[in-house]
Amino acid sequence: MGFSWSHVSIRMSDQNAMNVSMFSVREMSAALLDGSLDAMTVLDRTFERIYQTEHGDGALNAFRALDPEGALSAAEQLADHSTSGSSDRRLHGVPVAVKDNIATLRMPTGCASKILEGYISPYEATAITRLRAAGAIVVGKTNMDEFAMGSSTENSAYGATLNPLDRSRVPGGSSGGSAAAVAAGVVRIALGSETGGSVRQPAAFCGIVGVKPTYGRVSRFGLVAFASSLDQIGVFGKTVEDAALTLQIISGQDSFDATSVDTPVPDFEKVVASARTSFAMSKSTANPSLPLKGLVIGKPSEYFPESLDEGIRTRCEEALEKLRELGAEVRNVSLPHTGLAVPVYYVVAPAEASSNLSRFDGVRYGMRVERDGLRPMYEATRSKGFGAEVTRRILLGTYVLSAGYYDAYYLRAQEVRQRIRNDFTVVFSEGVHVLFTPTTPGTAFKLGSISDPYELYLSDVFTVTANLAGVPAMSLPIGDANGLPVGGQLIASHFDEATMFRVAETLQCALALPDRVVANGHAS
Ligand code: GLN
Repeated sequence: MGFSWSHVSIRMSDQNAMNVSMFSVREMSAALLDGSLDAMTVLDRTFERIYQTEHGDGALNAFRALDPEGALSAAEQLADHSTSGSSDRRLHGVPVAVKDNIATLRMPTGCASKILEGYISPYEATAITRLRAAGAIVVGKTNMDEFAMGSSTENSAYGATLNPLDRSRVPGGSSGGSAAAVAAGVVRIALGSETGGSVRQPAAFCGIVGVKPTYGRVSRFGLVAFASSLDQIGVFGKTVEDAALTLQIISGQDSFDATSVDTPVPDFEKVVASARTSFAMSKSTANPSLPLKGLVIGKPSEYFPESLDEGIRTRCEEALEKLRELGAEVRNVSLPHTGLAVPVYYVVAPAEASSNLSRFDGVRYGMRVERDGLRPMYEATRSKGFGAEVTRRILLGTYVLSAGYYDAYYLRAQEVRQRIRNDFTVVFSEGVHVLFTPTTPGTAFKLGSISDPYELYLSDVFTVTANLAGVPAMSLPIGDANGLPVGGQLIASHFDEATMFRVAETLQCALALPDRVVANGHAS
């Protein structure tokens, strides 16, 4: 028995339909396990929501592919405990959306590029294998900037994704489809990827939580390579808890990725739960306390420049004030090489991309434009297969790696990258536990409003630093400015996601922001 859209549209008329995205991941898996919720209802509601948001006027275009049949059969398998074999039920029956550059069986893995149109991977990414082992159900692949190059999801070869909170605006990028799917209440959690901010920035623009783990925390096996020394799979969640639990499940060493590290994975879910308990206890009138007492939060001056959007500055100052009230010490610090991060990133990332993307040659993967002779075939295939931004990056990367320019650009960039990394090492060695900054210098911008690629590159100023340094970082909603969500960024030292999650959960509790109501199908 398959899943059909006609079945879905019948349900759509039901005004009292339960919104399954109201459940946190933990609540949903628990309800599915104790039988108070059934997996078919969850999938019905999820695909119904996809139908509402992906059709008609104001369609988000968040998805590149859907797998209702696969989702249904996975749910059936889970229902039959005896055949599932796995005792891990942390994501039992929980729907998840996955960025189009993470390899899955059954659905194409196309990186939103014409050159990989229709390509189906013969294996799955380790992160996907781990999600499935915990009971998660992959419902679809999400739209993105082609090969993850961009900050708005406008570089997809298949059209832009719209921001569900304001459909005249971008959702951010490059993981814009995953962020939009979570923000629109389609799924509670989704996977994205980060090379230079591609999870945190869309999370900020869409008012949700986005986490980039430490480089090496999550296996890159099955993540289509953009810039291998920077790439990491990241997670989106509606809440800190959803994101922390998902990250915990996909983390840990993997023999298929030599850069994954065997550092033990802390129980992030427990960290979040105890942060919540401490916050609740701190409010007790009999025995009030300060849940973040002893914690030092760094406020780096370079992330609060004159040019920062005033609304974002205000929200950040308020969040810092909250953190002080919670007992933390807020200390002014400096990361002096921050201003060099964008130029360094836009040398290193294109250099690695030019090498990684040479494999798309019309022979091994995806499309081919037939020509007489090998070289003309390569040229025709690559010219037709890659979009403008990917072509620009390949040219830029090839240039900075070419004989005569290698030392001046690539080597120099590597040296400055080391200094950026060192900035973080220094502040964290001087007693700072986490840094707090805005995630982005502005809020979600209008579709089509930034046509100069360099202007777009500059908007990555607060996010590319953590990728260059390899440290973990996340964005969480801290309120609105200009009627749009503002993301606050927390950055921790290598492999200290636990402290980052503790601060994030405490701040989330203290801010207690109202739930956003996202309009149904049509542009509001
Ligand atoms: N804006 C960055 C870029 O275009 C983001 C890349 C990423 O994190 N995938 O390269």
